[in-house]
Amino acid sequence: MPIHEKSLIRPENLVTHEHLEIDGVDVSGHWSTFITSRAITDYNEQMQEEIAALPGGEFIHRCWQCGSCTNACTINAVNPDFNPRYWIYLIRMGFESELLRDKDIIWQCVSCNKCTYACPRDVSPEGVMKATAHWLELKGYTEKKPSTAFDEVFSEQVFATGKIEEGRVLRQFFARTGQSLSQGWLVELIRSLASRLPVGLLVKLGLASVIRPRTRGWRGASLAIDEYVRECEAAARKALRLDVQGAE
Ligand code: SF4
Ligand code: SF4
Repeated sequence: MPIHEKSLIRPENLVTHEHLEIDGVDVSGHWSTFITSRAITDYNEQMQEEIAALPGGEFIHRCWQCGSCTNACTINAVNPDFNPRYWIYLIRMGFESELLRDKDIIWQCVSCNKCTYACPRDVSPEGVMKATAHWLELKGYTEKKPSTAFDEVFSEQVFATGKIEEGRVLRQFFARTGQSLSQGWLVELIRSLASRLPVGLLVKLGLASVIRPRTRGWRGASLAIDEYVRECEAAARKALRLDVQGAE
């Protein structure tokens, strides 16, 4: 019989008998495909707690594996290997090495939140995907993604000034990700915007880029936010046992 979610099984663990007859009945080929048994010996018993310690992962323990998230998923529809339900299962079981097999596609989540609306247990699978991608970066299993670099420059600017200056965010993002500001599409975008936006707004944007305006009385809020973010980061590093490893 067909094997459900066959793409999740390693090819080497699938055995198909091309010629097999049982009690006179030919069960060759597709009808005699078996999954070989295997033993997993490496576990990360803290894995669920580690993911749950990161923003978005808090409610992963509620999952009851109904699969509604994967059924609703935008990316799963085009890539069956992208499977939030399966990854949540691996995380809850502590199968770290199994999860790492898919480390290069987990970031593909487009945050459409269809899974979140479909989930009957309020797990927020989209949040778990974000937390998992962040976990992979913090653990050093994957490179820092451009989206993380963007989040960082965006947040740093808000923390510093209480305002967003789009031009500065873009410049810093391109610098941090090693991208040239003279890329054709970017030059065309800026030229197109410059020809459409009112002159007064362009002057305002130019001035803001030089003067770097701040929200009045922002210093106190900035310090409080900075302290809170540091506390959250320290808690996450502690949950992932990165503070201990860093001290060794
Ligand atoms: S938010 Fe991510 S995981 Fe959820 S449905 Fe969209 S692409 Fe899939
Ligand atoms: S929809 Fe929710 S409960 Fe169902 S498998 Fe996905 S995360 Fe788990």
